Amino acid sequence: MKKLALVCGAGGFIGSHLVKKLKLEDFWVRGVDLKYPEFSPTLADEFIIGDLRDQIFVQRVVNMPYDEVYQLAADMGGAGYIFTGEHDADVMHNSATINLNMLHYGVKSKIKKIFYSSSACIYPEYNQLDPDNPKCSEESAYPAAPDSEYGWEKLFSERLYMAFHKNYGIEVRISRFHNVFGPEGTWDGGKEKAPAAMCRKIAAAKDGGEIEIWGDGKQTRSFLYIDECLTGVRKLMDSTTFLGPVNIGSEEMVTINQLAEIIMSIANKKVNIKHIKGPLGVRGRKSDNKLIMEKLSWAPSEPLRDGLIKTYAWIAEQVANR
Ligand code: NAD
Repeated sequence: MKKLALVCGAGGFIGSHLVKKLKLEDFWVRGVDLKYPEFSPTLADEFIIGDLRDQIFVQRVVNMPYDEVYQLAADMGGAGYIFTGEHDADVMHNSATINLNMLHYGVKSKIKKIFYSSSACIYPEYNQLDPDNPKCSEESAYPAAPDSEYGWEKLFSERLYMAFHKNYGIEVRISRFHNVFGPEGTWDGGKEKAPAAMCRKIAAAKDGGEIEIWGDGKQTRSFLYIDECLTGVRKLMDSTTFLGPVNIGSEEMVTINQLAEIIMSIANKKVNIKHIKGPLGVRGRKSDNKLIMEKLSWAPSEPLRDGLIKTYAWIAEQVANR
């Protein structure tokens, strides 16, 4: 008998790739989202369009004897969406409601195991002020001081999943993703993140032209290619005893200026960088992979450049066809 999986947020970037991976592993997959995947048809066996804030809809979608449930649906976007403050109420309300519904009705439907995608955005701002030495080890999450309401909602929901595990025995697995990127991710329109935005700007620029970067470009980040993210998700889900929360991210840290330089070299273009004011987030951030290595005997290791080569090729094609 095939294993049954439910992927919530299956129309989004990570969810649509996860559906492909689960299909390769021969799962029967039901995908759920407000929308279909934007860039290629879903591979889910069944795809239900609907709103996970709606209790009646959630009761309908969780009502199957799933072996695994993946809860990736969230109201989210890049810095231009999360850090301006304009969407705070919706981000908190929408994502918290989805998680409350999924756990409440998941337990009622006797769901055995559920994965939850938290974020590096839960880490305290006070540990990420020095761009060269950010601290993002799992235990450093407390005393809590995320720099966005998006991060606070993620932290609340992590606790919600742990509480349902403690009181109702539902198996939970929680990861904290660090800046996942790759082909078929949002690359335009305001919800895109730094790697996609930079690929788009460089693809659209003329050799010798100019692109804009928010801030001084000296803020640091680490970026994780989608395939490695999903390897981590599946390993965590397969773990029999380790619940997380655990970082799933890269330890290869670059400044945003360096990110631009790498993409320019991939594009074989030299463009000038104009630094402008914009929403930024913390000064420095990178994954700390000690815990994942210890618990799952694995950590992401692919060089950033390799993932950017694949992502740039895809975004350059989108830019050319727009
Ligand atoms: P995404 O925005 O592409 O996907 C999220 C999906 O959730 C979207 O397709 C959206 O339509 C869906 N959704 C939102 N509200 C919904 C609702 N009410 N009902 C049904 N579906 C709804 O984002 P992503 O990059 O694929 O991220 C997936 C998960 O991973 C999210 O929970 C996100 O917070 C988390 N995460 C992502 C990153 C990253 O770098 N991409 C980093 C940290 C955490």
